Amino acid sequence: MAQQLPHPITGDLFPSPVPPGAGWPGDLASAATPVATTSAAVGALAASAVDPDDLAARISVCRACPRLVEWRESVAVAKRAAYADQPYWGRPVPAAGPADAPILIVGLAPAAHGANRTGRNFTGDRSGDFLYAALHRAGLASQPTATHAGDGLTLQGARIIAAVRCAPPQNKPTTLERQTCAPWLDADLAFSSPRVRSIMCLGLIGWDAAIAAVRHAGWTVPRPKPRFGHGMRATLHTPDGRAVSLVGCYHVSQQNTFTGRLTEQMLDEVIASL
Ligand code: SF4
Repeated sequence: MAQQLPHPITGDLFPSPVPPGAGWPGDLASAATPVATTSAAVGALAASAVDPDDLAARISVCRACPRLVEWRESVAVAKRAAYADQPYWGRPVPAAGPADAPILIVGLAPAAHGANRTGRNFTGDRSGDFLYAALHRAGLASQPTATHAGDGLTLQGARIIAAVRCAPPQNKPTTLERQTCAPWLDADLAFSSPRVRSIMCLGLIGWDAAIAAVRHAGWTVPRPKPRFGHGMRATLHTPDGRAVSLVGCYHVSQQNTFTGRLTEQMLDEVIASL
């Protein structure tokens, strides 16, 4: 069900674009990290991860979605001209930020030349410029910019997770790919749930993925299912009865931020409410 494979780009075993440190957790996978190549293996390996670092390592070598594996690696080999001198991550992107953070931010998927290059969610693309500036204003990020893996950025009190961990063509994962990747989010939620206070969902796919994950974990979700919208809120309850806020936010994609559909003030207001 799970097998170990050499790194398909370099031939090494899963190297990182930069050494650990400077706000970058480094490449947590090793030759002993099991590789999921089927949806069943994703479920088994996600459920058996012993801690957040073990989970991140397993995610970072997953190969369960053939279309996305081919895409993420071909992009990492071809590169964008502006980044031709940089190594690309070219792999699934684990969560970023402390595992005990009270705020979870659930996005869609890595950008082809953003997180697929840097290995860190929303780093190195226009969406990240908008998001990290807001997180910095709110005291949740150490700096307003996130450009590359070793740029020194750290998160405090917030953890950023993608619903789908591999960069998809046209930013559109298929339904099957979303379903295949879901157990990784379930496992991240399991490690975060003792401390989580709010879950901010960037866009409808993040909203739906978060609701599916909390349902899998046995949380109580209002019925009918809460509808996504910017500023929409719902109160979830963990199995031990603790209330957690689910908060919707328009995605920080350029098609929202360049058109004014999502302004800095709108994003600041949602973050301040978490
Ligand atoms: Fe694995 Fe998720 Fe990437 Fe599919 S999208 S290959 S399940 S990490």
